Amino acid sequence: MAQPEMADQEFDVVIVGAGVAGIAAAVTLAQRGLKVAMLESRSILGGRARSWVDGVTRDPIHIGPHVVVTEYPNFFRLLEQLGTRDKIVWQPWRHFLTWVKGRQDFDIKTLPLPAPASWAPASVNDPFVTWADKHSTVPAAVHCLSLTEEQLMALDDESGIDFLRRLGVTEDYIQHFWGFLCHSILNVSVEEVSAAAMVRWFRRMVGRSSMEMGFADCGLGELLTPSKALLESLGAVVLTSTEVSGFLHSAGGERCEGVVLDTGVKMRARLGVVSTLPPPTLLPLLPKQWLDRHASIRDLEQLKPCKYLSVYIWFDRKVTEGKQMWARVYHKDDLNCEFYDFSEIYTGKDVRGVLWKDRPSFVGSNIIDAGRVGDMSDEELVQGTLRELSERFPLVEEAKVLHSMVNRVPMAIHRPVVGTEKLRPDQASPVP
Ligand SMILES: Cc1cc2nc3c(=O)[nH]c(=O)nc-3n(C[C@H](O)[C@H](O)[C@H](O)COP(=O)(O)OP(=O)(O)OC[C@H]3O[C@@H](n4cnc5c(N)ncnc54)[C@H](O)[C@@H]3O)c2cc1C
Repeated sequence: MAQPEMADQEFDVVIVGAGVAGIAAAVTLAQRGLKVAMLESRSILGGRARSWVDGVTRDPIHIGPHVVVTEYPNFFRLLEQLGTRDKIVWQPWRHFLTWVKGRQDFDIKTLPLPAPASWAPASVNDPFVTWADKHSTVPAAVHCLSLTEEQLMALDDESGIDFLRRLGVTEDYIQHFWGFLCHSILNVSVEEVSAAAMVRWFRRMVGRSSMEMGFADCGLGELLTPSKALLESLGAVVLTSTEVSGFLHSAGGERCEGVVLDTGVKMRARLGVVSTLPPPTLLPLLPKQWLDRHASIRDLEQLKPCKYLSVYIWFDRKVTEGKQMWARVYHKDDLNCEFYDFSEIYTGKDVRGVLWKDRPSFVGSNIIDAGRVGDMSDEELVQGTLRELSERFPLVEEAKVLHSMVNRVPMAIHRPVVGTEKLRPDQASPVP
């Protein structure tokens, strides 16, 4: 709840939400000399990239384990401004991902060659599919890379699986490679995904000689925490525990003139309001006449949330053979997609002064598109995760679980199903 005694105020720009997008917007605008207010309903910054300290272990807990990739230039520029750019730990260069099936590993690596040739050895050496399967995807891959933006967008009304079948990819390869890509990155099944979204991601990945993955070397939110001090030093107002309950509009209804808080206080914006709320949160707050008048706003209703379950398990010993991160090959009935051992990721020491690398395994994992798994208790989710972990790491069966927790996340990203790619705003806006 915002402070009830607060009076109405006026700013150049009011920013709603203090996740990555809100913070990036606030810093950019405040640095341009505008009088900015950033309003956040939670008590902490970070939104869907927030973190906190676990009450039992005092270890940092992310809302769910995250990776960052070298294709996030705007994000890294923001971290530079916040002084946290060096709090990213990178995997060994050109090691993209370790894929795990049963006890078998396959390290997906790129070679120092121009794209897409750099990815070819990884595809050729993949031990989990036949040569016929691999061969079947070559025409589809070439086709994806040769599409114009217009041709790509025309695929938005087709599902990923229909597109791949049309191009002759075998069912096994569709599930193995494309199914994994859709589930792990786009967070929906290849049956549901918009072929346009799928092809866009494929091109983004193999269109670069390599794509490196890294992790926060601290709680995710700690990457963003310095934004409050930076913004305040620039004259901006940062209000947490401050819930926006509606948008103010001009008499004719066309212009957004500010926001109203749940306390009734009005925050007026001379130049405009930047909302960074995800569609399911934003839409109920908008004036009905905006929804009636603007199809582009109404259409956001089609962007449904993808739920996550993030499981954290603390063991009494090392169990993951020194691995930082790995993913199971895709199977629709699996719980978890990818796993992280934070004792192998974090550098330096924990809050008790123990070197992270000397700590027992502390494993986090993501159950993606969690609507799939129905109504499971925390205990069932932890047991299921232990079962999946032990399929690869036998030591898990002997190890004792010291502590565990499950985060239930209502939305990680929107579900990019058929017909939704056209609703995405341009992703390429630079942060100067
Ligand atoms: C478990 C999980 C795993 C993920 N993994 C990855 C990954 O590996 N790589 C990756 O790139 N991305 C990942 N994502 C997605 C990424 O975290 C999000 O895309 C990103 O954080 C969204 O930032 P945002 O600022 O756009 O939105 P948000 O972070 O949602 O910001 C909106 C803010 O508005 C606030 N708010 C809501 N309602 C109100 C209101 N009425 N008034 C005021 N404030 C309000 C919210 O509290 C929030 O802080 C993951 C997300 C989750 C949850």
